[in-house]
Formats: sequence, C-alpha cells, structure tokens
Amino acid sequence: MRLSSQRLTMLLLALLLSSVPCRAGEGRSAVSSGDRLVRTIAITFDDGPHQGLTTELLDMLDSLDVRASFFLVGKMVERNPEITREIYARGHTVANHSYEHRNSSALSQQEFLDDLHRCCESIERNIPVRVRFFRPPGGNFTKEVLSLVEKAGLRTVLWDINSRDYTGVSTKKLAERIISKSAPGSILLFHSGVTSTIEALPVIVDALRKKGFEFVTLDEMLSEYTANEPPSVECGSHAL
Ligand SMILES: [Zn+2]
Repeated sequence: MRLSSQRLTMLLLALLLSSVPCRAGEGRSAVSSGDRLVRTIAITFDDGPHQGLTTELLDMLDSLDVRASFFLVGKMVERNPEITREIYARGHTVANHSYEHRNSSALSQQEFLDDLHRCCESIERNIPVRVRFFRPPGGNFTKEVLSLVEKAGLRTVLWDINSRDYTGVSTKKLAERIISKSAPGSILLFHSGVTSTIEALPVIVDALRKKGFEFVTLDEMLSEYTANEPPSVECGSHAL
C-alpha cells in the first residue's frame, strides 16, 4: 500500500504527539515504565524503612554500585529517621508510599490528602528533598486519587514487573522471574524488608548488566516529569 505524502505527514505528526509527555491539567495516568527505547531499569522498594533489613539492603546496593528508589511509609520514617537519611545520603530516590499504608481507594478525599501530606512532611523533615513520586499501598487507586496526587505536585508511579517477593518465593525463582521479564524502561517492584530480595539482587544485577541494562533511580528515569514542572502546590507545604 502506498501512502500519500499528506497521509504520511499526518501519521508522523500523530506519532510525535503521542510521545510528548502530558502537561499539568491534561489528565494524567499512573506511570508504570520509563522510555521503552532505552536500556535502563529502575529498581524500587516499597515499605519501610525497617531497622536492620533496610540497612542490609543499602549495603548490598552499595556493593553492587546500584542506585534505586524507595517508597517509604511515613509512620515508619518517623520511627526510623536515621535510616531515611541514610537512604538519601547513599544517592537513592526517596518517595511517598502514604503515611499509614491504608488502601487509598477506600479513603475519603480529605483522609487521603491528609495521609499523603503527612508522609511528605515526615520525609521532608528529615532530608532536603521535595518528594515527587507517590505509590499507592497495594497498588490500589482511583481516578480521583490520581487527580489528588497530581494536584499535590506528585506523580503516581506503579511498576511493570512485580517480583512477588512478599509471597515467600525462593531467591532462585525470584531472580529468574525478574531476569526473564525485564525490558528496556522496566520499573521493578520489590519490598525493603525481605531477606530473599537482598539475596537475589546480586544475581539479578549481574545478569541484567550482562544483557546491557543500566540501573537508574526514578529521578533519572522520569526526569522529564520533574525537571520542567515545578508543582503548583508542594505536598509537604501545608497548602493542601
Ligand atoms: Zn506497601
């Protein structure tokens, strides 16, 4: 089939527009991967910080020379502020996983906002960052939640590959699953208080590096969402 030059131009234009990131107010969806054309992968950890296991995890990441991203629970940050500061000091992205770790879709708008805001405050009280990413506990959210998160100046970030490390899966199976499923732009979901995750990391990192992947933080992978768009309202600013 031959395409007329006018039709070809329209197609190219449509392709170009579809690759432009949304601007504030255009109605956003949650992010579950980075650029599929770039061989980068973001390792993310939910929950915590936990005494002991999160520090072990940080030491493992250092030994592998990997920077990752941590979605922290606000009330755990308050219990373990020194580990929160350590996560940041070692170069990882620190993000919001709610204050109480309740189901976001079951809360009223005000309850959700109070909780979101409280988590940002607990993090920003300890480290000099503006929190920019939110992951709803259990991955449960509604359209309303997405909109409230955006108004708070945050971006909802999910994942495309779930390690299922919370199911008691063996270290070997965990590693195999991640290595076989990872793709350019993947965002991997792990949890920060799981021993098998820490044990599987060297195998996963080594195998994926051999496949030409580079590990990046969410700040690096999703920089287009943060660099040019200062939020109109900051999550931790009491302005909600
Ligand atoms: Zn969680």
